[in-house]
Amino acid sequence: MSRSMLLASETGATSRALQDIYCRLFACYGPQHWWPADEPFEVMVGAILTQSTSWTNVEKAITSLKSAGALSPRALRQLPQDEVARLIHSCGYHNVKARRLKSFVQWLGEVCGDDLDRLFAARADELRKQLLSVYGVGEETADSILLYAGGKPVFVIDAYTRRITSRVGLSTSDAGYGALQSLFTDNLPADAALFNEYHALLVRLGKEVCRPGPVCQRCCLGEVCKWWLRQGECKNTGAALTGIKQGAGR
Ligand code: SF4
Repeated sequence: MSRSMLLASETGATSRALQDIYCRLFACYGPQHWWPADEPFEVMVGAILTQSTSWTNVEKAITSLKSAGALSPRALRQLPQDEVARLIHSCGYHNVKARRLKSFVQWLGEVCGDDLDRLFAARADELRKQLLSVYGVGEETADSILLYAGGKPVFVIDAYTRRITSRVGLSTSDAGYGALQSLFTDNLPADAALFNEYHALLVRLGKEVCRPGPVCQRCCLGEVCKWWLRQGECKNTGAALTGIKQGAGR
């Protein structure tokens, strides 16, 4: 078999594995209805606030912004930064995040006059570059905005995605953001609805089952997960070795 044929078959195998994992997750959990927000600007704010905190804390901050009539680009531009920080206090690192929100809405006004249809009319790769130039917007935040607010076919990588793909055997634990993103975008159709649901399902699995201490007995990926299959092999080998030792001792 030639090298190119080998790569093609490996690519096909990865694609099938990713599709299989998606089907298992979807059969187990069903649609996740992400992103939990009323409109695209709220998604953007949530994507900035969710860094290093739980979603429950973000929800409290968003509710607080809404109650104060501050959940719009213009209102956030007009509010002093320390007032924004006070309103989002629940989500941690509130001073840093207030500065990020202020920078973001400043950029939004300059780049598209707060017109999100105009903003998202740009190509995903061009818009991604621009988003990454905004203070405090990293790859995960930029991609969450592109996918969940803009409906662009961009796969979001986070700690859950990294942990699960590594454990099931599709990546290494030290794989970079770009490599993990390519794993999905090179092997699945460029479909925003699919990427939306897939990422949301990985987050669900990562929160409930594939935690730092995984609960593999309850996992719908057990049959295809290298990490879990290896645990079984270790137990079998251990049992076999114990049997040999006991036999030798008789
Ligand atoms: S079987 Fe265990 S390690 Fe594998 S994905 Fe499920 S919970 Fe994670």
